[in-house]
Amino acid sequence: MNIFCIGRNYAEHAKELGNAIPDSPIVFLKPSGSYIEQPTLISLPWIVGAIHHEVEIVIRMGAKLEPKDWSIGIDLTARDVQNVAKEKGQPWTFAKGLKNFAPVGNWVKFEQDWKSTKWSLGLSVDGTEKQNGSSEMMLWNVPRLIKLVDESFGLKEGDLIFTGTPKGVGPLGHGSKVEALGESSGSCSNLKFQCQ
Ligand code: ZN
Repeated sequence: MNIFCIGRNYAEHAKELGNAIPDSPIVFLKPSGSYIEQPTLISLPWIVGAIHHEVEIVIRMGAKLEPKDWSIGIDLTARDVQNVAKEKGQPWTFAKGLKNFAPVGNWVKFEQDWKSTKWSLGLSVDGTEKQNGSSEMMLWNVPRLIKLVDESFGLKEGDLIFTGTPKGVGPLGHGSKVEALGESSGSCSNLKFQCQ
């Protein structure tokens, strides 16, 4: 399984981190070892500094370049490590790819008209809403992302695409209770866990 992640796919999030809105999507990878499904407790390496939540819609590919299902997910990010990597022009693997840094909720099957699927997504920490958005704010929508990732890298059945995060990213702490929710035409995907 390959885990492709899209950076700066929501204009307001690019701005909040002081980044320009890119001409084409930023793509990076997480190792499959960072994947964890429906966790209730996640151990995080606090020694790396600030660990931020980025709530995202995650697409899972089926056969013939058709997505099979989707889930809510969190692109956990060691922000201090990422800032140093950005300064030094180094890759983001230690910032984005650590163990348990790609949690997802329950998978929801796509209906037939997956190309026009719209989502809302949100995340709260200890009961306080931190992020909410909608897929209509994406700079590159899901059909365009699938085409781009496949043309450049080749998409295989079972591969995931994290489609980027709306604004409101921020730090988690030891003991934080995280709730993420994605909704699309009456179906929803949940992810609820505590950090330790
Ligand atoms: Zn992200």
